[in-house]
Amino acid sequence: MSKVMIHPADYENVRQAVDRAFELFPLELLGKKVLIKPNVLRSSEAKEGVVTHPAVLRAVVEKVETMKPAAIVVGDNPGVFSYGANEESFTKTGLMDAARGYYQNIGNDSQKVDFNPEFMPKVSVSRVVLDADIIISLPKFKTHGLTVITGAIKNSYGFLPGAQKAKLHKEAGNAERFHELLVDVFRLRIPDLFIMDAVVGMEGNGPASPDLRDIGLILASDNAVALDAIVAVMMGCEPGRLRFLQKAKEAGLGDYDLHTIEVIGVLKQVPDFKLPPLSGEANLENEIIQTAIHSRMILRPQADPELCTSCGACVDQCPVSALSMSDDHLPQVDADVCITCFCCQEICPEKAITLR
Ligand code: SF4
Ligand code: SF4
Repeated sequence: MSKVMIHPADYENVRQAVDRAFELFPLELLGKKVLIKPNVLRSSEAKEGVVTHPAVLRAVVEKVETMKPAAIVVGDNPGVFSYGANEESFTKTGLMDAARGYYQNIGNDSQKVDFNPEFMPKVSVSRVVLDADIIISLPKFKTHGLTVITGAIKNSYGFLPGAQKAKLHKEAGNAERFHELLVDVFRLRIPDLFIMDAVVGMEGNGPASPDLRDIGLILASDNAVALDAIVAVMMGCEPGRLRFLQKAKEAGLGDYDLHTIEVIGVLKQVPDFKLPPLSGEANLENEIIQTAIHSRMILRPQADPELCTSCGACVDQCPVSALSMSDDHLPQVDADVCITCFCCQEICPEKAITLR
């Protein structure tokens, strides 16, 4: 039977709930490499409620520090509106401070792994995800126009750097296939513990809706399917209607049936919670999102010969080896290999790279 913790909390006092989560779901971290992955959808202010609140990240980092791991990394690959703005996204949200020096741009280094060929035969995953002994995922209690809720399973979509996320969105083609794709990404490396920021949640047409709700809770589990099922119930949605939960159950990753979940705390539906359409088509019909996805997918880097000093930093840093030095000593891109992660643009000391 899976367990889900529901614990009262506010942002001034998150640590108590975090301590309780570690009591209920003990992890041995001594000497281990730990990745802590908040949901950093995009560059925004913490008060917009779009990302995991920095108070939650700080409490988890401080807790993990006491458990003497060999290494801690805090990182995420932001979504379509903030590709190439990894550092900026962490700084603006306050997550950089909360990371207490453990922040890393995890989009800078990746490894190709086999994937479901129905979508793409291979995907690049941030290497730190594959190298971590323990992953602690910090999702946010939010709605999502395409998947209805964005919780524990969806948070793993950020394991993919760059515009692959946009490309996969497009390959999926419709909401149902996108739900299935999410589970395939989640299975690439299932996190060990989920601690969800439900102090302030988001309703309406998330994941960046202006409609915030005070919920006053931290949720936790070591099973993402059970946790997302509880989130769905709190939002007033029958978990079995969500295709990604059905697919996760079919894949043996857990169960959304409430009879199989032990709730530690008080489970209550949030009154009059505004859900996006259950068909999950809201984002597919959103012209701004579709335009952003398309524009990110077709961009490729180009070096300005007036500014480039041929230092080679971009060639060395490209996570998928898409760049090489041309005979005229300018970096050139293999357009088929490039995943539009914007790392070369971020790293260039001369600001010589633009994405066109
Ligand atoms: S060429 Fe630049 S944008 Fe493309 S994958 Fe390499 S680092 Fe990322
Ligand atoms: S990092 Fe910038 S300056 Fe260095 S080779 Fe690449 S484009 Fe040129």
